[in-house]
Amino acid sequence: MTDKERQQLLQQLLEKQKTDKLKPSDRYDIPQQDMPEQDPAVRRGNVNEVATGYTETHARLEAMRCLQCKKAPCVNGCPVQIRIRDFVTAIAEGNYKEALDIIKENSLLPAVCGRVCPQEVQCQQTCTVGKKFKDPTKGVSIGRLERYVADLNKNSDSVPTVAAETGKKIAIIGSGPGGIVTAADVRRAGHDVTIFEAFHKPGGVMVYGIPEFRLPKAIVQEEIDTLTKMGVKIVYNFIVGRTRTLEQLLTEDGFDAAYIGVGAGLPRFMGIEGESLIGVYSANEYLTRANLMKAYDFGRGADTPIALSKKVAVIGGGNVAMDSARTALRLGAEKVYLVYRRTEKEMPARIEEVHHAKEEGIEFHILQSPKRIIGDENSRVVAIECLKYELGEPDDSGRRRPIPIEGSEFRIDLDTCIMAIGNGANPLIRQTTPELEFNKWGNIVVDENCKTSMEGVYAGGDIVLGAATVILAMGQGRIAAAAINEYLAKK
Ligand SMILES: Cc1cc2nc3c(=O)[nH]c(=O)nc-3n(C[C@H](O)[C@H](O)[C@H](O)COP(=O)(O)OP(=O)(O)OC[C@H]3O[C@@H](n4cnc5c(N)ncnc54)[C@H](O)[C@@H]3O)c2cc1C
Ligand code: SF4
Repeated sequence: MTDKERQQLLQQLLEKQKTDKLKPSDRYDIPQQDMPEQDPAVRRGNVNEVATGYTETHARLEAMRCLQCKKAPCVNGCPVQIRIRDFVTAIAEGNYKEALDIIKENSLLPAVCGRVCPQEVQCQQTCTVGKKFKDPTKGVSIGRLERYVADLNKNSDSVPTVAAETGKKIAIIGSGPGGIVTAADVRRAGHDVTIFEAFHKPGGVMVYGIPEFRLPKAIVQEEIDTLTKMGVKIVYNFIVGRTRTLEQLLTEDGFDAAYIGVGAGLPRFMGIEGESLIGVYSANEYLTRANLMKAYDFGRGADTPIALSKKVAVIGGGNVAMDSARTALRLGAEKVYLVYRRTEKEMPARIEEVHHAKEEGIEFHILQSPKRIIGDENSRVVAIECLKYELGEPDDSGRRRPIPIEGSEFRIDLDTCIMAIGNGANPLIRQTTPELEFNKWGNIVVDENCKTSMEGVYAGGDIVLGAATVILAMGQGRIAAAAINEYLAKK
């Protein structure tokens, strides 16, 4: 659809609405509005955002596809129960500020969630329009609409009101989405809030993991700036468990409560031969070098180098694997292989990311997995030896189990291998806080209010849920903040 056709259609629909309500059939006839994107051949050579965002015409047309269902099943699909029908209706009517206010009732980071939430398995999966077309990706593009109204509000100076100072001190450990949301909500109640962050920059995975081309860092920085304008203090290069223990913060440093939001940043490896060779990275290290340390600008202002690779294999099939593969391409790799032991159907990565990766030229090697990594005499990686796989019966996760085919060994030559097979909980807090209860996977045990086994200590996000999502971390942050405010009101 051209811009002109889009504008004409919008005018026709607005005219029609003056005399008549749009019928469901009128709404079904509106073509789904694709997200404008950088051309794949161009974008693989830069780190700018791939999706460039809706125009007003795109947004209003897309919002008009919504049937404004009485029961709004999309709301139940949203982990934080945003009033989706109401904000989409506000966009259809051109009331963008109202739409954003509705979203902000439940989500403090709409510009982030509009970009990275897996809508196709959440709100959009339950959308009636998607059901009509028997395809959740054809449902109302809720995330794109959320992003549209959030971006309209960019660079706004508005700062949430903060209640009178209570004199109570709260320590927030980790500045990921969970930490940011908790800090905002407890600061609003008038408490004195300090975020302790291990890195030299805030934002957690949103900054060190998710690449610039999916989530521009300036968006996260804006949220951090709002926090500091509200009076939240941030201390960088401070590792709780090393610089100070949680116990010391609470008993010696005068903190009345704490929220632990340290994420799940411990990379997993396969335990195969060759994983310590030069040129084998965990996705975590690779992405941190590229994103947080801006290794793509090494020699032009950035201090952190990264391997200049020609042939890269990324092992895994989730968002982390897609991000690593697409980052390797942008860092100049000529060939990037994505090696995954199941099929594309079982890949946990977002459909959109898989689609983008393929468009950019990532080669998918499905039903394959490395058996060992091969190095040269200088201990540099030169190849992986893989086995082919077939799918068996479903396992505990409900996905069909990959079974190696004996004798199917083959070799892929490469100079860099990136392991993106998952992350676990970092054991540092566990090792230094014996009073805290953890489960067998090393995650902190909390009740329905995100309260831990320690008095005054709350936790949420990936350190509780295991590697999960931004919106779930945010949702837990809100629950924890409400519980902390209630706890301190009684103290
Ligand atoms: C590459 C990648 C891509 C992803 N893509 C998506 C996506 O598209 N959509 C989506 O919804 N989710 C995605 N996720 C998952 C999502 O980013 C996480 O679920 C989410 O960020 C978890 O938030 P959190 O607040 O629990 O902690 P995190 O974001 O992990 O932040 C934790 C912070 O705590 C700090 N910290 C750790 N230990 C200490 C300590 N001892 N003392 C002080 N500070 C500490 C860390 O430095 C970090 O800044 C992705 C994850 C990765 C790794
Ligand atoms: S389910 Fe879909 S069509 Fe119905 S209200 Fe929600 S977004 Fe609109």
